[in-house]
Amino acid sequence: MIDRRKFILSSALTGVAGMFSSKMFARDREELIDVKDKPIVISTWDAGIAANKAAWEVLNAKGRALDAVEKGVMVTESSQNCCVGLGANPDRDGFVTLDASIMDENFNCGSVAFLERIKHPISVARRVMEKTPHVMLVGVGAQAFAIAEGFPLEEQKLSAEAEKNYTEWLKKSEYKPPAINVEKTNNHGPFAPAKLESGEWNHDTIGMIAMDASGSLSGSCTTSGAGFKMRGRVGDSPIIGSGLYVDNEVGACVATGQGEDVIRVAGSHSVVEMMRQGLSPEAACKKIIERIAKIKKEKAKDIQVAFIALNKAGQYGAYALHPGFEFALRNKDNEKLIKSKSLFKV
Ligand code: ASP
Repeated sequence: MIDRRKFILSSALTGVAGMFSSKMFARDREELIDVKDKPIVISTWDAGIAANKAAWEVLNAKGRALDAVEKGVMVTESSQNCCVGLGANPDRDGFVTLDASIMDENFNCGSVAFLERIKHPISVARRVMEKTPHVMLVGVGAQAFAIAEGFPLEEQKLSAEAEKNYTEWLKKSEYKPPAINVEKTNNHGPFAPAKLESGEWNHDTIGMIAMDASGSLSGSCTTSGAGFKMRGRVGDSPIIGSGLYVDNEVGACVATGQGEDVIRVAGSHSVVEMMRQGLSPEAACKKIIERIAKIKKEKAKDIQVAFIALNKAGQYGAYALHPGFEFALRNKDNEKLIKSKSLFKV
């Protein structure tokens, strides 16, 4: 809800619906918007609950959203998650390669891709943003930059779980998006950290967006990408505008799922543009999911994509292609997982 003392509305806007209309974003940008429910943080999948806790510590102490979204996803990078950080499943040659991006309230952004043996790619992405004239560093260059910045070079070693999954995967060495079977994936959906009937493990990402007490938005995204991907493959997560986008005048969005299909529609940026045109976060996410479904035609059944979004008024929402996607919310009254709606129903 809106703090009316601080929210200066133009006379053309009437009622709550009007407050969140495109007029507010398109025409009345200079106006001061204050949202009582801030700070707020949302993040993808159930790993988001633990990540939000760390982000909340920053936000609750009146810290910056940028610090919150970095600290938050570092929790997932440190865990032995199948899909994020050095404990994740490797590429088809047996190497874990990581992608991450971060963006603040002033269009500053940084990312790393195809980064190996560094525990916290999100922090390297932040250093790229803050300490270089560039937005993106990849591969050995990103690793050399990380080492020069004092990040330790970790041992090249798969986690026990990843080793097991890789050995299993090598038996068939097949790379194809797994068939959708929500029942068999512990309700997380086909791209969640769950073992499929086929024995394959899926890929996943932690994406987080937050609004701090001063009303500034920031976002982060970190992943090992698709498990057993081709060596050198980079997904949507480190691509600013695809895996993540923040426009502090409008809102922020982060993506998870089949990265190639998120890149095709510049997913997160497209969702933010829909919010700029006046759509709610959920409706904006839905529009871009529909666009992906239209492009993919019958192949849409083989992939999962989901977006979460937060607008400048503190409203949040999500939408997925298939059931099973959920996201985590933390604000002063709530700490919960929310099931996302989806285009396909079963
Ligand atoms: N979007 C990530 C990628 O394609 C992975 C995921 O979210 O499942 O690299």
